[in-house]
Amino acid sequence: MVQLHGKTGMTVQDAQPPDVGLLLEPNGTESSRITPMMSQYLELKAANPGLLLFYRMGDFYELFFEDAEVASRALGIALTKRGRHRGEDIPMCGVPLRSADEYLQKLIKLGHRVAICEQTEDPSEARKRGAKALVRREIVRLVTPGTLTEDSLLDPTRHNYLLALVRSRSSDDFALAWADISTGDFHASSIAPGSLLGELAKIEPGEIILPEALLADQQWGKALASIADLTPLPSARFDSANGELRLKSHFSVAALDGYGAFTRAELAAAGALLDYVALTQIGRSPAFSPPRRAPSAGGMVIDAATRANLELVRTLGGDSRGSLLSAIDKTLTGAGARLLALRLSTPLTNVADVNARLDAVSFFLTEPQLRQKVRENLARVTDITRALGRLSLDRGGPRDLANIASGLSHASEIAALIQAHESLAGLPVEIASNAGALSSPDLRDLCKAISGALRDSLPLLARDGDFIAAGFCPELDEAHRLKDDSRKVIAELQLSYVDKTGMKSLKLRHNNFLGYFVELSQQHGEALQKGPWSGEFIHRQTTVGSMRFVTAELADLEQRIATAAERALALELEIFSTLRQKAKAADQAVARASQALAAIDVAAALAELAARASYVRPEIDETRDFIVAGGRHPVVEQSLREGGASPFIGNDMNLSEEGLEAHRVLVLTGPNMAGKSTFLRQNALIAILAQMGSFVPARKARIGLIDRLFSRVGAADDLARGRSTFMVEMLETAAILNQASPRSFVILDEIGRGTATFDGLSIAWATLEHLHEITCCRALFATHFHELTGLASKLQHLGNITMRVKEWQGDIVFLHEVHPGAADRSYGIHVAKRAGLPLSVIRRAEQVLERLERSELSAGRRELVDELPLFSAALQQEEGQEESVLSAIEHRLRAIAPDELSPRQALDLIYELRSVVLQR
Ligand code: ATP
Repeated sequence: MVQLHGKTGMTVQDAQPPDVGLLLEPNGTESSRITPMMSQYLELKAANPGLLLFYRMGDFYELFFEDAEVASRALGIALTKRGRHRGEDIPMCGVPLRSADEYLQKLIKLGHRVAICEQTEDPSEARKRGAKALVRREIVRLVTPGTLTEDSLLDPTRHNYLLALVRSRSSDDFALAWADISTGDFHASSIAPGSLLGELAKIEPGEIILPEALLADQQWGKALASIADLTPLPSARFDSANGELRLKSHFSVAALDGYGAFTRAELAAAGALLDYVALTQIGRSPAFSPPRRAPSAGGMVIDAATRANLELVRTLGGDSRGSLLSAIDKTLTGAGARLLALRLSTPLTNVADVNARLDAVSFFLTEPQLRQKVRENLARVTDITRALGRLSLDRGGPRDLANIASGLSHASEIAALIQAHESLAGLPVEIASNAGALSSPDLRDLCKAISGALRDSLPLLARDGDFIAAGFCPELDEAHRLKDDSRKVIAELQLSYVDKTGMKSLKLRHNNFLGYFVELSQQHGEALQKGPWSGEFIHRQTTVGSMRFVTAELADLEQRIATAAERALALELEIFSTLRQKAKAADQAVARASQALAAIDVAAALAELAARASYVRPEIDETRDFIVAGGRHPVVEQSLREGGASPFIGNDMNLSEEGLEAHRVLVLTGPNMAGKSTFLRQNALIAILAQMGSFVPARKARIGLIDRLFSRVGAADDLARGRSTFMVEMLETAAILNQASPRSFVILDEIGRGTATFDGLSIAWATLEHLHEITCCRALFATHFHELTGLASKLQHLGNITMRVKEWQGDIVFLHEVHPGAADRSYGIHVAKRAGLPLSVIRRAEQVLERLERSELSAGRRELVDELPLFSAALQQEEGQEESVLSAIEHRLRAIAPDELSPRQALDLIYELRSVVLQR
């Protein structure tokens, strides 16, 4: 049995049913006999430890015992009671079936997992086994964060990935398999441990399944828990042989070679993922596309810290508003939004691929009318992929079928619009191939079959009936006619009863308990019982203020109507099932069409963005230049515009190796609040936008491909993982210095600010020299350590730039303009004054500053630069020391004859060698 850990924290042992022998009748009378319903409940509960059990009773899901207490607290709903146990009331709460999704969403967000138990037979069927027979119930699904399918539980603009993670036995690498069961997307890849967290930050899984041992691992357990909900499974579930078999049987293939060369660990991860899906979906299988093996070093590498710092898909506060994605997202479909987010997370590193995407954007930019018409259609496209996903899991309803048909019909209109343009201008490959995928004959047939069968207004669930159009199936029309006629007869019968009895308030009503019945007020009911019709109208029930009667005629009618209605529903369900099979049979073509629509949506959306916000097409090449004219920060620009503030000031950046004045590393100084961080980030964002295939906020941009992007900006504690602000800063800096290559782009903001001035300055100094001398990458380095600007005289590829300000009547005005040169002051006290620090503190700070500036602390910047040896010379000196240690060891090793050493002598030798190293 697999045990899921929800917020309730229950384990198999915790979840043992209460002493069943002592459970009491729900009516509250003491009895040692357990009710059949409770027995059924407890059995299901015991089989699903750690999950809240939604137990279906009529139009409600009921929760009992601890589940009820947990859920009522979490959902803010009333806690009541039903029956007794060990002399205590059994706590109970319930959620109505109709709004169950809403409650599920809340519970899942709070970290709970839910087992859904449905009635799997009609109560009338159960009654055939005896008046008191219990309706059969089964668990139909386990709802966990990574296995959601309902629109109401999902963000339409984001993928919700379930990810399986396993460590390779043959190498140190991790294998990942991840899939979105709502769309069928399925991928696998391997990754080195150092890149794992970055990769997970890119995929953003909703739930990670992993071997229990990995969760217990000190190094990984906590780090992974901070990324997603974790579900530990026994290690035996991550077995590569089982994985291979699982994949082969799922995709009905004899060999997996056609999908790519998977490693054993990847097979183990993919197999565990399929197993888990089968477990949570109770054997139902989503329409997965065959797994695609992502190359391990695919695309621009952006580590987790950089992603977070640059606020690519959400801000540091966790909101999507204010992120780069929300600033650039003009897509109109859920699938388009998901694709845009994916592209933003994985910028490309191949010039031809980037240009193919840019060609598609250019096409829509130069065809504004076509763009508008295509977008009008896109706005009406529903989420085909997720609708198909639900149908594949037998969870979809008539509206899902209708969504597929309407999506496909808009898709074919879009294809027609684009293809009509073909003669005017050559279509870019990306547009042509996607338009082709929207107009396949299979899709037309499916669309026709569904549209011809369904009515205009549809119920959510197939079992509610009344969704097949009149004229589609003669047999169904006949059953409907009978049903409708009977209704007419009911109305006529009511009239005749009113005439017969003379009681105008007489009504014919229906409920599940009595079927059709006559309802009268108490007063009229009593009169009827005393009158001449008392033999025909048999009293069945008295409620508050009314009396209910049945007649033989009504019972007969009830039977006829029920048969017609049952027949009609059975026929509708049969047609629904045929249509669903048809849709499932075309799942690959539908999935391809959905991907094509998403790609067209993204291209048209990026063109719309470029047109509305004046973005330009970037030039991408293989150089190591990064040249931007009039670059802007996409998010700050937008918020200034929305706030009606003065417009964003565009700034140039020139990183290049060619030319006399060319610089590869720029040191940016300037006052607080002048716009340094904004400038750094805007250039990183421009690089990401360009390589994901978007136009960029600038007048002009030329970017030599960037392989890795690093940013160290701002500072935050990571106390949960025991890291102070400065430790986080140093960890991020270490990652940059260890991993950046000459093709990388690095932005560093205020390195070394979290420690004592001299320590900080020294670290910033050495870091800057390392980037310039050893890494040789492109870098922007913002700092308030003005001493660093002196390095430009020594380091060939290093230049200084500064933010211009104007001093005016003792105050400063920020111009937000970047110019060559260095600042000599930070104007920190001015900013503090603006922020409202008490005047007494400001005055005192000014006095202290003046003294400091006069003292030797600020003197001698020039001398410092002159006195220190060059970074490379200092390094050589150190390497020399290393060399001498090595040669001493080498010397000693050469002198020994290993076979002649006793164990004791060998141990002494190890100590001796170690002491040589330690003496350094
Ligand atoms: P500190 O040194 O205090 O961290 P900073 O120099 O990094 O400050 P930023 O945080 O980049 O300054 O910018 C401060 C504010 O200035 C931004 O929030 C933005 O509103 C505005 N700003 C920055 N750059 C520009 C620009 N180019 N045009 C218009 N406004 C800008």
